[in-house]
Amino acid sequence: MARKFFVGGNWKCNGTVEEVKKIVTVLNEAEVPPEEVVDVVVSPPFVFLSLVKSLLRSDFQVAAQNCWVRKGGAFTGEVSAEMLVNLGIPWVILGHSERRLLLGETNEFVGDKVANALSQGLKVIACVGETLEQRESGSTMDIVAAQTKAIAGRILDWNNVVLAYEPVWAIGTGKVATPTQAREVHTALRKLLHDNVSPEVAASTRIIYGGSVNGANCKELAAQPDVDGFLVGGASLKPEFVDIIKSAT
Ligand code: PGA
Repeated sequence: MARKFFVGGNWKCNGTVEEVKKIVTVLNEAEVPPEEVVDVVVSPPFVFLSLVKSLLRSDFQVAAQNCWVRKGGAFTGEVSAEMLVNLGIPWVILGHSERRLLLGETNEFVGDKVANALSQGLKVIACVGETLEQRESGSTMDIVAAQTKAIAGRILDWNNVVLAYEPVWAIGTGKVATPTQAREVHTALRKLLHDNVSPEVAASTRIIYGGSVNGANCKELAAQPDVDGFLVGGASLKPEFVDIIKSAT
């Protein structure tokens, strides 16, 4: 089953109104492969979601970088899935390693967030990945398998899920995983989906790579059979994001 290439841009906690408008202008003027070939989703901070949605070309979509684990209410500082749906935001990134490591989000909490977001009608980019210490101790697959199972156990409809493998040691470090390192984990994750969910879900679910992807290294990574796209941080704030989108073809 052919899987449509997926390129996400995670802007993290960056930008001003002026900077956001500039990035959107670059994206709007870019010549990229058509919607049938690649899904492009950009993820600004919450405060810029409406602005970006109103300015961005209609063939690109918008994602939030997080949402609350339950229905809204007395949860100061949080943003609920229903609010995102109400704003017309179709996607949300959940389980990013910065939230797991800096804010203590556990596998179970991320699983609960994924379940809640999906139940509200959001599509989810669910992130997994090991730290350098975990890779060096040989536990990469155990870690990403535990993270993925905590999410997989909560998903009823996989059509609305993209799985992002993001080794923590590669995020924001300029130290990209080699194509072989990425392929090994992606292939193992697909096998995990095959064995734990179903052959159909394993065949159809996009597994994307994130961690120091840029305009220069994207082609070789995109050529790996189990790499179905990218989640891009730093380079998604620059014009080279367009080159990364073009690696879909
Ligand atoms: P990076 O970040 O591309 O800057 O390494 C990727 C991510 O955190 O999603």
